[in-house]
Amino acid sequence: MPDPNHYQVIIVGGRPAGATLAARLGQAGLRVLLLERTTLPSRPAVSSPAIYACTMRLLDEIGADEADYARQTPKLRRWVYEIRDDFRTVNQVPEVWGRDYGYAIDRARFDDALWRLAARSPSVTARQGFSVTDLLWEGERVAGVVGKAAGGGEERFTGDLVVGADGRFSLVAAKVKAASHDVRTDLPTSLYYAYWRGVESYDGTGPCVQIYGPGYGLGFLLMDSADDTCAVVTEGQSAVLDPDQRGGAEAMYMGLLQQHPQLWRRLKHAERVTTVRGMKKVGNLYRQAGGPGWALVGDAYHQVDPIDGQGVFDAVFTARVLAQAILAYTRGEQTWPQALAAYDTEARAETFPMYRETLNRVQRELYTRHSDWAFKTWLRWISQDPVYKRRLALLITRGIPAEGWLPSSVFFGALARGAWGDVKRLWRRDEPALAS
Ligand SMILES: Cc1cc2nc3c(=O)[nH]c(=O)nc-3n(C[C@H](O)[C@H](O)[C@H](O)COP(=O)(O)OP(=O)(O)OC[C@H]3O[C@@H](n4cnc5c(N)ncnc54)[C@H](O)[C@@H]3O)c2cc1C
Repeated sequence: MPDPNHYQVIIVGGRPAGATLAARLGQAGLRVLLLERTTLPSRPAVSSPAIYACTMRLLDEIGADEADYARQTPKLRRWVYEIRDDFRTVNQVPEVWGRDYGYAIDRARFDDALWRLAARSPSVTARQGFSVTDLLWEGERVAGVVGKAAGGGEERFTGDLVVGADGRFSLVAAKVKAASHDVRTDLPTSLYYAYWRGVESYDGTGPCVQIYGPGYGLGFLLMDSADDTCAVVTEGQSAVLDPDQRGGAEAMYMGLLQQHPQLWRRLKHAERVTTVRGMKKVGNLYRQAGGPGWALVGDAYHQVDPIDGQGVFDAVFTARVLAQAILAYTRGEQTWPQALAAYDTEARAETFPMYRETLNRVQRELYTRHSDWAFKTWLRWISQDPVYKRRLALLITRGIPAEGWLPSSVFFGALARGAWGDVKRLWRRDEPALAS
């Protein structure tokens, strides 16, 4: 008689990484225990809500229902960038994998839809409100978990594998003493956000993402989201967005929004419907992918600055690759060390070039002080250039590889086209093109 408390895979954490991993393994018939500390639907501790077609394509593979996870959520087809009063540019979301839009999803709804998808597989046991407190060991190998449900006694489960899908402060990673690498602490950023209702439309022509840059140190995003709400986010250098120096997170957040008429014009008659949440010094790192009897996935494995909104993609992508590795192992096609090495190599090949680019963007957009002249000339020329804009949009939506996304021919071509445009306008005695 098989032990009812033994599973092929125990997954700690049931949001994007854990739930999609469980769904994939469950659909392949593996006996999986999925454990989540919180109860769903609920928002994750801290996250803003941008997702793109690249993420939805991975969700299509496991049968996630877009009408469910993006219920009452407007499709976002354009990003509008405004840089001080110097210029404005509109970038269309390009069509990749059959979708020409993204969402600012309601993470409570999204995470719950993925959880329910995983729990539908007959071979998946999904328990929420259950906190894992420790790991079980057989010598050097992780052999299971210990934990408890709210108000319940201690319970123990054994597994052939234990996966930490338990986010950036992963208990599994801490217990196995997973080594970190490629850690970047040189560009610390912090991010604060809240949801609002009754926010004035950007320009009366439909939903969008408004991105406003006041020039140095921080930026803002207003994203039309589910149920007529708008996610209003500010991200900046940690030294600039420091609630301890600015009277607390609420006062800092409200004060910053009120200082910028480009944002406040949309918010002044709106109601803030959530508290201000945020995170100081968001981490940038990779962790060891796994070891004897264990693996890490999603944020537990890799964390990156949220400026490009890539975290959910990385979570569901690494879950997909880890599922392949676990299946190769359980089918006897690979040993666990071989499967783990293949997982780490493939996960890194997809995520590392983007990691580097995201941090380059943090450096350029939040940590570089540009002169007035630069904003009015070459930064405007590049930002408004159609070829540059399309490549940037394809980078963010993972429609082109991050490696080499901006060839020098595009960069210098954009400069030349912008400068030439200004020369022609000067010749005609027109105003410079402040909007495009
Ligand atoms: C400020 C900020 C803004 C962001 N904005 C975006 C964005 O716009 N777009 C985007 O794509 N990404 C964004 N991200 C990143 C994104 O939130 C994460 O990459 C994503 O949520 C990772 O999913 P995950 O499943 O790995 O971890 P999580 O979503 O963190 O889920 C981990 C789960 O594990 C559970 N857990 C933890 N410990 C235990 C335990 N001991 N026992 C049981 N359960 C446990 C937790 O309760 C949690 O539900 C942002 C991140 C931050 C910090």
